[in-house]
Amino acid sequence: MQYVNKRENREEGNKITQAYLQEIWIEDEQRYPVDYNESFKKLPTKANSYYKQMTQVLLNNQNHYCCYCMRRLTGKGDTTLEHIIPQTADDKVAHYYQRDDFPILKGYIKLSSLFSHEQNPSMAKLPHTVCYDNLVASCHGKFPTIKKGKEFETDGHSCNHPRGVKRALPLYLLTNIDTIITYEINGSIVANPDSPLYKEAEELIQSAQLTWETLSDIRALWYVLRHIDLDQIVAESGNEQSRKDLIQDHLYLTDFSDEKIKALTVKFTKEQYWECFLLYDWFHSYHWNAA
Ligand SMILES: [Zn+2]
Repeated sequence: MQYVNKRENREEGNKITQAYLQEIWIEDEQRYPVDYNESFKKLPTKANSYYKQMTQVLLNNQNHYCCYCMRRLTGKGDTTLEHIIPQTADDKVAHYYQRDDFPILKGYIKLSSLFSHEQNPSMAKLPHTVCYDNLVASCHGKFPTIKKGKEFETDGHSCNHPRGVKRALPLYLLTNIDTIITYEINGSIVANPDSPLYKEAEELIQSAQLTWETLSDIRALWYVLRHIDLDQIVAESGNEQSRKDLIQDHLYLTDFSDEKIKALTVKFTKEQYWECFLLYDWFHSYHWNAA
């Protein structure tokens, strides 16, 4: 995971929320009826909604990577906005997130249900369903579709979709996230048992389903190809045969079992899986411990 610095791009993000609030203001009642699902996604126009504007600011803030799995994102159909404090949270749930570890969540956010019903609410705390501080860009978490019987189904999900409203503290908001959650050369994602936030890291990994097999395979393959230039990897993988050669030749240098080498080769020779693999190039420059 990468550290997400919410102090950057904040002014830009807050401007979007404030413009949205101005637009929904009810003069007669002197309040803002925040309606995330409808108005935030439709105003000021559907083509350039506040939701879409916020997505771009968040992607810039996160270097265009999913906050959970590190998939590269374009913002065009591959990105969803994840609510750190879930949309449906009540006071008790919000309290779990608004702790000293996360001063931004604690200091600048109010539940939308409370904010909406107040008359002339202060802008010091913005409504949680639409404010920059409580939003992060996440991938849709879909993996390639594969044939199961007669049907085609996605090979699983990670990130926003499985997380739903499950508890997931935003550990990526901590500057030392890369010591709390690490990756091993076999592709597994690991919560550091020495971290005081070990339990929370485990919970985050499970909630976003980051142990998903295809994700682990992708990370393992990046480790295997870590010494080859990125340009070369792309250039040498233009068709099925060249992909197969590239993958197989390097897998044979590992101590993976023959069975695993075969399975990985078959999987990533397929175009859909290879395209998906390339979206995870963040792992190419990851500081693998055993490297
Ligand atoms: Zn993701």
